[in-house]
Amino acid sequence: MRWSQALIPTHKEDPSDAETVSHRLMLRAGLIRKVTSGVYNYLPLGWRVVRRVEAIVREEMDATGGQEILMPVLSPAELWMESGRWRVYGKELWRTQDRNGRNFALGPTHEEVVTDIARNEVRSYRELPFCLYQIQTKFRDETRPRFGVVRAREFIMKDAYSFHRDETSLEDTYRQMHAAYSRVFDRCALTYRPVEAATGAIGGSVSHEFMVLSDTGESEVIVCGCGYAATNERAEGTVPPAGGDDQGEQAMRAVDTPDSRTIEEVAAFLGVAPTRIVKTMVYDADGRAVAVLIRGDRDVNEAKLALVLGADVVVPAAPDVIERVTGAPVGFAGPVGLSGVETVADESVRGMRNVVVGGNRKDVHLVNANAGRDFPAPQFRDLALVRKGDRCARCGAELDSFRGIEVGQIFKLGTKYSSSMKATFLDEDGVAKPLVMGCYGLGVSRTTAAIVEQHHDRDGIAWPSSVAPYAVHLLVINPRDAGPREAADSLYEALRGRGIEVLYDDRDESPGAKFKDADLVGMPLRVTVGDRGIKRGVVETRIRKTGEKGELPRDSAAEAVAAMLPKLP
Ligand SMILES: [Zn+2]
Repeated sequence: MRWSQALIPTHKEDPSDAETVSHRLMLRAGLIRKVTSGVYNYLPLGWRVVRRVEAIVREEMDATGGQEILMPVLSPAELWMESGRWRVYGKELWRTQDRNGRNFALGPTHEEVVTDIARNEVRSYRELPFCLYQIQTKFRDETRPRFGVVRAREFIMKDAYSFHRDETSLEDTYRQMHAAYSRVFDRCALTYRPVEAATGAIGGSVSHEFMVLSDTGESEVIVCGCGYAATNERAEGTVPPAGGDDQGEQAMRAVDTPDSRTIEEVAAFLGVAPTRIVKTMVYDADGRAVAVLIRGDRDVNEAKLALVLGADVVVPAAPDVIERVTGAPVGFAGPVGLSGVETVADESVRGMRNVVVGGNRKDVHLVNANAGRDFPAPQFRDLALVRKGDRCARCGAELDSFRGIEVGQIFKLGTKYSSSMKATFLDEDGVAKPLVMGCYGLGVSRTTAAIVEQHHDRDGIAWPSSVAPYAVHLLVINPRDAGPREAADSLYEALRGRGIEVLYDDRDESPGAKFKDADLVGMPLRVTVGDRGIKRGVVETRIRKTGEKGELPRDSAAEAVAAMLPKLP
């Protein structure tokens, strides 16, 4: 490709609204452009990377025996109602209607549609197992799209679904997929880690997420020296006790706490540590209100809470619900005198004495409250979001954490969808049984951004060879001079003749500007043709990743470049 004929709109300056390296560099290098919040155009260079990542994914899926299909973006609400997800998916599910008022979803994932295929086509155990996959545009109506294509509302995903007669067969495919995902991310030159994950809106029993290590990642992963690794949503651990309540039970009293609603405000106002406060959080669990008590410095893990309550959807209750349940505006809820609402407490609250709690009245808190005396002793369950410094549930050591970008997630679904949608097969014994399923998602556009997060320096992107938009960045200095221009033109043709993909910067720009652009767009090998080199019979090379420079004889440059490329990082 000649740059003079290409659309590669690079920018010298950092865009003001980009918070992460990948977002900033993808905009600056002219890979993507925002259309509206969370919706992007992929410009030519960006699309070439996406296509290369897709090709790797396709090869690895095909290698595991996956068969590529294409399902529609638009799926009828009836299918989502059958699985129950029309009700429980929440606002992230992009719902829409046709002209007749019929409901549809723009698919964030395709369990319902693929289960419908299976129940219509599969009759016998002899047809099992099989695995279908697609690479397609997906939708999620994010509350807060950000980080460019990392958290977008429209994105490209590979989603695969496997069908089995039993758990043993599912286990085989799950393991193969785990290995295939590792090969995909290895080939994309990513540093990543598979970790145990919560199953969330997809459901099922066992799940792993593939996390690309990145300080700007949105996910927090809890890790232990013993090898345990899980997302913080999923992680189990023990909250160390805070201490500080070793005196006998004191008399409870009410204190005015004007405008002190948050734990920080109450702690500052009363001059106590947040660990001496018990927060009362009101949740909406499938429509019923539940009060959760937790130590002031900790957060509730809503996934754990949903499991404990046996609820599909758990969200913080709306302010009017909180006011109705507690009799006070948000910020003053407490367990004393709270009636008519189910109450559970996190283990962190067990044994705490003389604590500060909300007074269920505006601007009032109670100090020296004690469970069993001032309010009924609640049921204690593990509900806290585990964090760095907690103790490992497996070995007791102190847990550490890192941040990551989730680029893939695999699930053992079991019969969640086949049971609700009646997708059965006849087993050897002639009995109809629900299909056992797995599903396997991989964010293609997100992987592209993750690669940029891990492969850049202060000058720009440094693509790994496996996914670079072009293998070679050919650059001619002063193309107005016939000597260098003709030499570069003929090298361009010679490289193309060898099947090498070349971006040829033939623009009439200053050498400085062209070198800056070459570093920004980041092809693995730069080949520079200039007057001085030509006179000496050489062209210059520079490896983008290492900065290593070299010279090649002009006459055999194409051959020498072809020999270099397979060895590049
Ligand atoms: Zn451990």
